[in-house]
Amino acid sequence: MNRVREAAPQLAGLVPYDPKYLPASAYLSANENPRDVDAEVREFIARAVARVPFNRYPDPLAGDLRDLIAEANGLDRSCVLLGNGGDELLFDLALAWGGPGRTCLNFPPTFSVYAANARLTNTTVVDIARRDDFSIDEEAAFERLGEGDIDYIIVASPNNPTGLRAPQDFLERLLAATDALVMVDEAYFEFSRSTVRPLLAANENLVILRTFSKAFSLAGVRLGYILANPGVISEFMKVRQPYSVDAVSQAIGSVVYENRARFEPGIREIIEERSRMFDALRTTPGVTPYPSDSNWILFRMEGAGEAWEYLYEAGVLVRDFSATPLLENCLRVTIGTPAQNDEFIRVLRGFAAHRGSERAPAARA
Ligand code: PMP
Repeated sequence: MNRVREAAPQLAGLVPYDPKYLPASAYLSANENPRDVDAEVREFIARAVARVPFNRYPDPLAGDLRDLIAEANGLDRSCVLLGNGGDELLFDLALAWGGPGRTCLNFPPTFSVYAANARLTNTTVVDIARRDDFSIDEEAAFERLGEGDIDYIIVASPNNPTGLRAPQDFLERLLAATDALVMVDEAYFEFSRSTVRPLLAANENLVILRTFSKAFSLAGVRLGYILANPGVISEFMKVRQPYSVDAVSQAIGSVVYENRARFEPGIREIIEERSRMFDALRTTPGVTPYPSDSNWILFRMEGAGEAWEYLYEAGVLVRDFSATPLLENCLRVTIGTPAQNDEFIRVLRGFAAHRGSERAPAARA
């Protein structure tokens, strides 16, 4: 047949996720860890991978890694589930708690994958826009929740791309106010040093998402996990791909998790660099940075699109959010190594000075 019938209607107009990964010398666009896994841990990984039987299917539930994560979090293994990156578990959430006739509550601007997954699964999305300072409009959220039709809620904490975590007391009140499943996406919690894990014991409706992609430098490996009560984990198990976490990733993840203390200095450096970068942005003419609990900073400036180009021409790749509603003229820069951060600031200041001098005569006229 030389034609094909149309794909499912919910795909119409949907644009595939595009990380806009272009060649650059400083990758400050995807919130990755600027430092790769250190040489010694790579050695341990090489040895562990050498023992993996490639001809056998992997352990579907990644038992060894699951036990390590459970123990570190003071939980039973039945409270942990691994996935092919946090992304897979976000999709599983929409499959398990969404669907036709079901509704999710979303707080844009936030991670765009939440709404995309809802759309793919024919889940209705109710958006409660964040306030000007990107805090959640709590009153509006509770009022909407009162209608009783929300099936699941996702709150990123810290929120990507705006930067701050959600207040703990808001999350506690949210969990108490509804029986909807509340996912708190803690993909960046190692940089905020704050988690809602202690709330799991009292809240059947809480699920926490974590990832190995950021603090643990494994974005290329694809490993994420959720923490939840066993009843919630069982539902996720029904929708997940049985072998989504391959044996090589399991082996790598176990070695990295056992050695997680070695990532601490790198995390500390990112946190320190974040405040240095914030000050540098704050003192760059025309630039307004937003405070961040994570490994990036969102900032607003006139001519953000041109600034993005200027940075890119100089080899510095950042993320342009200027076309996203509520994020007009906003760019997001991931905290890199000190040298990358210096380079970013040098180029951005060059752009600001260049723009300032172009505009100065007009301003005086
Ligand atoms: N949640 C948030 C808020 C993210 O920014 C990301 C990564 N961009 C993820 C989840 C998923 O990360 P991964 O699939 O790499 O684990």
